[in-house]
Amino acid sequence: MARKKPFRIGRSRTGLGLFATEPIKKYAFIVEYKGRRLSNEQAEKLEARGNRYLYEINSRRTIDGSGRSNLGRYANHSCRPNAESHLTKGKIILRAIKTIRPGDEITYDYGEDYYRNVITPRGCRCVKCRQKRASARRAQRAVKARALRRKQRTRAAAMTRHRPRRRATR
Ligand SMILES: [Zn+2]
Repeated sequence: MARKKPFRIGRSRTGLGLFATEPIKKYAFIVEYKGRRLSNEQAEKLEARGNRYLYEINSRRTIDGSGRSNLGRYANHSCRPNAESHLTKGKIILRAIKTIRPGDEITYDYGEDYYRNVITPRGCRCVKCRQKRASARRAQRAVKARALRRKQRTRAAAMTRHRPRRRATR
């Protein structure tokens, strides 16, 4: 009998994503990353044609996870993930690395190659990276606001100095 899936496919910030529908315990199985097995040479050809769902198992074999029946392909990348991919008995599975609450998006780290080659050019959109960018923007705004206040204070001080003279001419 097939295991009941602890997730659903839903809208995420970056398209579709996997969302927990029930609590998932740490190290619990979530889904298999399913697909046909290719040699790495075959996989390179598909990659050149834009296939983004290739999962290299080892130096010889890659899984082509682009089929729609592969629900694992809907799990998005995060730099602060709550799941991981794990090779077990020749299969790639996603499993929890912490307790996942219902409603949480299930994410895993796609790895350095993917980050460098695919994500970096347009900026990572995971929660962690968006928070990092937001706090950088906040810091930038704070610097500007401080500079503006300094300018206003200088101007105010200048006006105070001039005021007595202006009054004297009235
Ligand atoms: Zn990120």
